[in-house]
Amino acid sequence: MKLPPTLSVVLGNLFKKPATNPFPKNEPVPVPKDFRGKLIYHVDKCVGCRLCVTVCPAGVFEYIPEVRKVRLWLGRCVFCKQCVDVCPVNALEMSDEFLLATYDKYDDNLRWLKNDEIAERIKEAEEKKKAQKKQ
Ligand code: SF4
Ligand code: SF4
Repeated sequence: MKLPPTLSVVLGNLFKKPATNPFPKNEPVPVPKDFRGKLIYHVDKCVGCRLCVTVCPAGVFEYIPEVRKVRLWLGRCVFCKQCVDVCPVNALEMSDEFLLATYDKYDDNLRWLKNDEIAERIKEAEEKKKAQKKQ
């Protein structure tokens, strides 16, 4: 009886190491150069120009007028990098981080500027205004 030609390949593969990385059992493979991972927001560099709000196709950015900064909802990000390219002061950067899976799209790991950080900045801005009025 003639064996099917694929059988020798199948049998041969039984004794080979897997070609793929068995993650999470093993460490993940290194990401390539210029990988587009989780977005990083350097809030103190941000000048509140809103170009990122305009250019983002996924509605990630929410402008906070009281502090002239943006809040990022990263659960919506499609990693296109347009915001990074358009930001005039390099306040946005793509990182190597890709382990972002979660059941909660509002997870703290998927947000830049949490409510308490925004509240703190609003308070600081109000205090600055009051101090300026007194002068
Ligand atoms: S990478 Fe693209 S989708 Fe993600 S925040 Fe920037 S512009 Fe929006
Ligand atoms: S484009 Fe840059 S500077 Fe302008 S609001 Fe966005 S993060 Fe801030």
